[in-house]
Amino acid sequence: MQTLEKTEPKLVQLKTLLTEINDIESAAALLYWDQATYMPPEGTAARGRQLATLTQIAHAKFTDPQIGQLLEDLRPYEQSLAYDSDEASLIRITRHDYERAVNIPSSFTAKFSQHTAECYEVWAKARAANDFAAVAPYLEKTLELSRELANFFPGYEHIADPLIADADYGMTVKSVRSLFTQLRQELVPIVEAIASQPVADASCLHQHFPEAEQLDFSLKVIEQLGYDFQRGRQDKTLHPFMIKFSTGDVRITTRVRENDLNEGLFSTVHETGHALYEQGVSRNYEATPLAGGTSAGVHESQSRLWENMVGRSRPFWKFFYPQLQETFPQQLGNVDVETFYRAINKVERSLIRTDADEVTYNLHVLIRFDLELQLLEGKLAVRDLPAAWNERYKSDLGITPPNDSSGVLQDVHWYGGAIGGAFQGYTLGNLMSAQLFAAAAQVHPEIPQQIASGNFTTLHDWLKQNLYQHGRKYTAAELIQRVTGSPLQIEPFISYIKQKFGELYGI
Ligand code: ZN
Repeated sequence: MQTLEKTEPKLVQLKTLLTEINDIESAAALLYWDQATYMPPEGTAARGRQLATLTQIAHAKFTDPQIGQLLEDLRPYEQSLAYDSDEASLIRITRHDYERAVNIPSSFTAKFSQHTAECYEVWAKARAANDFAAVAPYLEKTLELSRELANFFPGYEHIADPLIADADYGMTVKSVRSLFTQLRQELVPIVEAIASQPVADASCLHQHFPEAEQLDFSLKVIEQLGYDFQRGRQDKTLHPFMIKFSTGDVRITTRVRENDLNEGLFSTVHETGHALYEQGVSRNYEATPLAGGTSAGVHESQSRLWENMVGRSRPFWKFFYPQLQETFPQQLGNVDVETFYRAINKVERSLIRTDADEVTYNLHVLIRFDLELQLLEGKLAVRDLPAAWNERYKSDLGITPPNDSSGVLQDVHWYGGAIGGAFQGYTLGNLMSAQLFAAAAQVHPEIPQQIASGNFTTLHDWLKQNLYQHGRKYTAAELIQRVTGSPLQIEPFISYIKQKFGELYGI
């Protein structure tokens, strides 16, 4: 980015302003991290205010007409320079963010965040009390506000398009729905076939595993995967997440259950996948809008690639299982690697999305995606949502939730944000992870063998080279096409599932 900066002071001016905004946002992020890890409970009210203040300052600075003017003045470069040059990309992506930010009036943002804060509080109680009716009026208001939000972006084909674009820019209801419809047709019969087989025995994972040993082991694992502890750290939290303050400080959080080995280990590897992506973004983009993962879907593709395609694979445990047995000799000394492998890949029809296995997980997401579209289209009323939810669980997963707490009230998304745009990324990520892994393995067929000897460098380098370093330069669709040579498809994921679980369940 240095060449144009030497001759164009307006680019320098833009970058200076963007850096200031980034610094305020990073400070807010650090306050959030502290709140979720170490802050004493009595700090909550003041912390909420501090976060709101910083967010407002950053928003006001970013939507200042000065930014719009600079972008306008720099527009000729965006057109004359190569599309994938750093300069043209910086101007393009900043303009995209700017136009989105100025389209939404700040009065609406204030109204919306006040409403979602209230709705969240009511939901938390309603979920505990299994009382959907208590939160229904709030959800109706959320639906109304979600439509209002979408309508700040006229010209859409489907009312959910602007909401989807916020998380997965470049994706639309049309493109996502066509993938998801095919995916459902493939997955439902696979789940039925597996359900007709004996359930895998996962009891070896549900013994007592002391927290300190679990944490030690998972830290050893992620260091080997390539997580850079000079540029990151792990702490404990209630709901694990990855957070970035700069390319030099990308942190992860985890939670451990002493009676479930799955929880801590795989959530750590999952968040590490997100973190490897952020640690791999080019340092040239530091503190600009280019410095970050390009979409919710691509981000999730990296957490799921490392968690599932690597972390739940045979080669991975061929290498790590002896170390795990050494860490827990009493619990696992007499459990062979095959029993362990089958346990961590147990498939079952279950009610809770976040606990679901690789095969059934996407069906949970597809149900939510379809229902939120129906809500936004006005084809489904909020009061009829629980019944519609239960019906889809029956038809797609073959089970009916015994109550709304383990049904329609289980996820925070609709109750703490907009209805629309928050779920599709999970499944897009799973589809992308399979297509990307297949592309890497085609160029480097030695990858599985390397994983079996604890060597993750080839895979990690390939991802850095092809994906991570680009940050937000390319959209998800552009990246997938560039890296794999074709648009996003369901085939790589389906063939991965069929191969892995067909072998495990003899189907
Ligand atoms: Zn994730």
